[in-house]
Amino acid sequence: MTASKIAIAFPTGPCFGVGRALDVTKEVLKRKRPVYMLHPLIHNPRVVRELQQQGVVISPPEDIPEGGTVILSAHGTPLEIKNILGKKRANIIDAVCPLVEHLHRKAKELIDEGRFLIIVADPHHQETLALVSHLPNGKYVFYKDLDKAPRGIPIGVVFQTTYEYAKVPDVLKDIYTISDDIRIVNTICPATRGRQGVIDRVGSKYDFIVVVGGKNSANTKRLYEKAKSYTAAIWIEKADDIDDESIKDYRNILIVGGASTPVEHLIEVYLHFKKVIQ
Ligand code: SF4
Repeated sequence: MTASKIAIAFPTGPCFGVGRALDVTKEVLKRKRPVYMLHPLIHNPRVVRELQQQGVVISPPEDIPEGGTVILSAHGTPLEIKNILGKKRANIIDAVCPLVEHLHRKAKELIDEGRFLIIVADPHHQETLALVSHLPNGKYVFYKDLDKAPRGIPIGVVFQTTYEYAKVPDVLKDIYTISDDIRIVNTICPATRGRQGVIDRVGSKYDFIVVVGGKNSANTKRLYEKAKSYTAAIWIEKADDIDDESIKDYRNILIVGGASTPVEHLIEVYLHFKKVIQ
């Protein structure tokens, strides 16, 4: 039988923003418990469970006690939620990723310079809800509603930080049909580009790609969709999710982690494959 090759794709581990939010949380937990969060800090159920065991309580803003300590997520938080917390005199620790703040700044800047904004993003994603809470009504539409955008006026374009890079040319081709005065700010974050790019570059060289990350993670879902377009692929949260019988014939395997997946989870999967196929 041919020797098998199992590789872990670089970049690995949580992206800069998620890693930073986790560090902030661990520091706060050393001196304060419980610590409240409005929703999971990162899109990885395993990590979130571990944090809950250490004293994190996930709660809607209305149920947080007066003066409670609240950590806000890396993806950003809508202004109206911040206002509710302000009225409760909550001790707010905002762990928003600086690249998400950059997206907010650039979106406002484009509107302030008189451009109508096209937001290329999932309207329901937490990052997008936070973004639009900072923007004036009637000055933007989502790309999926491009037909509702005014024609022939200056346009600005921003992207969800985890938007799929490979789709950008087609998106821009569509947007150029409504105006020829367009300013595009590339707000897709380098962590996203790096992870997607590695699959584009080497995906077809592997006979199996294992994408590891939370089932509620949008960026992990995109990695899985991309992996499937090149070769056989699965999307799992942990090594126990693997059906050993279905993987034993693969010899050339790439393991890819989402932006919220700790390195240890990838190593667990790596060791599992080693055990089953070698
Ligand atoms: S994916 Fe990028 S923008 Fe989103 S939290 Fe991570 S580093 Fe920040």
